[in-house]
Amino acid sequence: MLSIDQARDAVLAHARPLAGEDVAAAEALGRVLAQDVTAPVDLPPFANSAMDGFAIRSGPSGRRLTIAGESRAGTPADRALDDGEAIRISTGAMLPAGADAVIQIELVDEDGDTIVVGDDVSPGRNVRMAGEDVRAGTVVLRAGMPLGPAALAMAASAGCPILRCARRPRVAILATGDELVEPGAPLGPGQIHESNAPMLAALAQQAGAEVRSRVVGDDRDATISAVREALDGADLLVLSGGVSVGPHDHVKPALAANDVEEVFWRVALRPGKPTWFGVRDSDRTLVLGLPGNPVSAYVTFVLFAAPALAALQGADPRAKVRAAKLAVAVERHADRDECMRVRIDADGRAMPTGPQGSHMLSSLLQADGLAVVPAGTGALAAGTEVAILPLR
Ligand code: AMP
Ligand code: MG
Repeated sequence: MLSIDQARDAVLAHARPLAGEDVAAAEALGRVLAQDVTAPVDLPPFANSAMDGFAIRSGPSGRRLTIAGESRAGTPADRALDDGEAIRISTGAMLPAGADAVIQIELVDEDGDTIVVGDDVSPGRNVRMAGEDVRAGTVVLRAGMPLGPAALAMAASAGCPILRCARRPRVAILATGDELVEPGAPLGPGQIHESNAPMLAALAQQAGAEVRSRVVGDDRDATISAVREALDGADLLVLSGGVSVGPHDHVKPALAANDVEEVFWRVALRPGKPTWFGVRDSDRTLVLGLPGNPVSAYVTFVLFAAPALAALQGADPRAKVRAAKLAVAVERHADRDECMRVRIDADGRAMPTGPQGSHMLSSLLQADGLAVVPAGTGALAAGTEVAILPLR
């Protein structure tokens, strides 16, 4: 059986970046940049004032200066500053030629059309220099970077209305199981409401994908045709359930019938051991068969599907792993690494959120991370440091 890392590497080895497309900046939140963005101008583009006050020449306190004009934000003064003069200035307004400092309004005595400077003023005081944030020609955003609010502000500052981004991956979700009933319909004997498709769709959307999903029963022919439809146009097909070896598990044969070749089946992981991964060579579609138990499906999506979606978009697929000490002792599994639902407590320690059955959503709901408890014998003592995969 592959380790978690080996399995993820096997998935990533097949994930090729998708083509880029132009995206209006207003639509680009969460998209991954496909091309570097360079600032064409200095930022700030011109020397300007950090304060409301007067643009002056640096010099000693007590000088009386004549107010010779005004520089407002967006409307520079119409003349340069001469000796013995001050120009009224607003925050963000262009520093007039001839001035090298700004005295804030609070340190000035205004008297008709003159002021008295109330402090010694050194050169550059309250002046924001052109290019002190970013020099023209600097790469401000790198390809592969997911676009968050600060990145969008930087792109706007650099004057970019359109950003070249990776195409959003198209994810098809196929939940399998005869027992599944859509929410809203009443439950018959032995039935449960289908919860994996909305969960996996949400995870895929959070990872930047466009998603469609459907449910299919445990029938061989129906699964074969549902897989055929789901594969059409998908970059990644995620199935849930039916991937074990029971008499009603049709996922693997249905994938084989659709020319999807197995790369691996089973990972030394709890929950999530039956995870299956394969690729269809003709169109490079990736296929993950996730176990049906909801927490298993969630964990294996986080471990394998999310990195694949990052890689498809040209982003860094490595999870942002942190470390934390266990708040309590935990039993280890003999030969599988366990992804334990934990909450990081006020002291920064990882506390299991409750029973860890792979069908139990309540302890998943409480969790803000997965602690990776390595396989081994006996318990892992409280205070032992473990890797944490953040879930939020
Ligand atoms: P399977 O992997 O198909 O053997 O399913 C394992 C367990 O997960 C069973 O208890 C199923 O009822 C449950 N399960 C499978 N698919 C779903 C689903 N889409 N939503 C909720 N539970 C599911
Ligand atoms: Mg099933």
